[in-house]
Amino acid sequence: MADRYTCILLFGAPGTGKGTQGKLLGEIDGFIHLATGDIFRSLDKESELGRKFLHYSSRGELVPDDLTIELWHDHVAGMVKSGIYSPSHDILLLDGMPRSVPQAKMLQDLIQPLAIVHLVAPDLNDMVQRMKLRAEKEGRHDDADENVIRNRFDVYERETAPVLQQYDTKLILDIDAIGTIEEVFDRVCNIVKPLQDR
Ligand code: AMP
Repeated sequence: MADRYTCILLFGAPGTGKGTQGKLLGEIDGFIHLATGDIFRSLDKESELGRKFLHYSSRGELVPDDLTIELWHDHVAGMVKSGIYSPSHDILLLDGMPRSVPQAKMLQDLIQPLAIVHLVAPDLNDMVQRMKLRAEKEGRHDDADENVIRNRFDVYERETAPVLQQYDTKLILDIDAIGTIEEVFDRVCNIVKPLQDR
């Protein structure tokens, strides 16, 4: 299908640096970083959807699939309409989407993944520490509590990791997520930049 959104999926367990790497990559012309968590966090907290988001995120749970896809799709359509994103020119860097197998299925006719950048970190405790630091720095309620963080890892293993099986293995590019932001960014760039010349 010609009109699917061309994208690169940023994939990996919580705390592996998808957001950090996505933001840096998003500064390169032709790449647009789109984090589903950021879309949720930008909602009015008093709105019905905003309250639902807080209900799930404060427990480390995923927001229900239908709601998430609808919100995401509306958001992308809004970006196109306002000219922030040009599907014929830009590659979307999807951070935190899809996060479940049903979401991957719902997106099948909407996105065309060029690659899945899979940030891999073997030590869960390192990731927990990273997330606690981030919670302090960014004031994120969902990552301040260690039990919630641990639940986010369980949810990742149970609901998100199986998403990889939905895609051709040739698309999945494992990248070592351990190192400085710059070191990991170099690794990511080496893989991702050539995709712009497809
Ligand atoms: P993140 O900023 O990616 O860590 O996401 C923060 C929270 O937003 C998650 O814990 C979920 O509650 C919610 N969220 C983000 N992306 C999704 C998604 N694709 N599906 C369902 N919930 C999501």
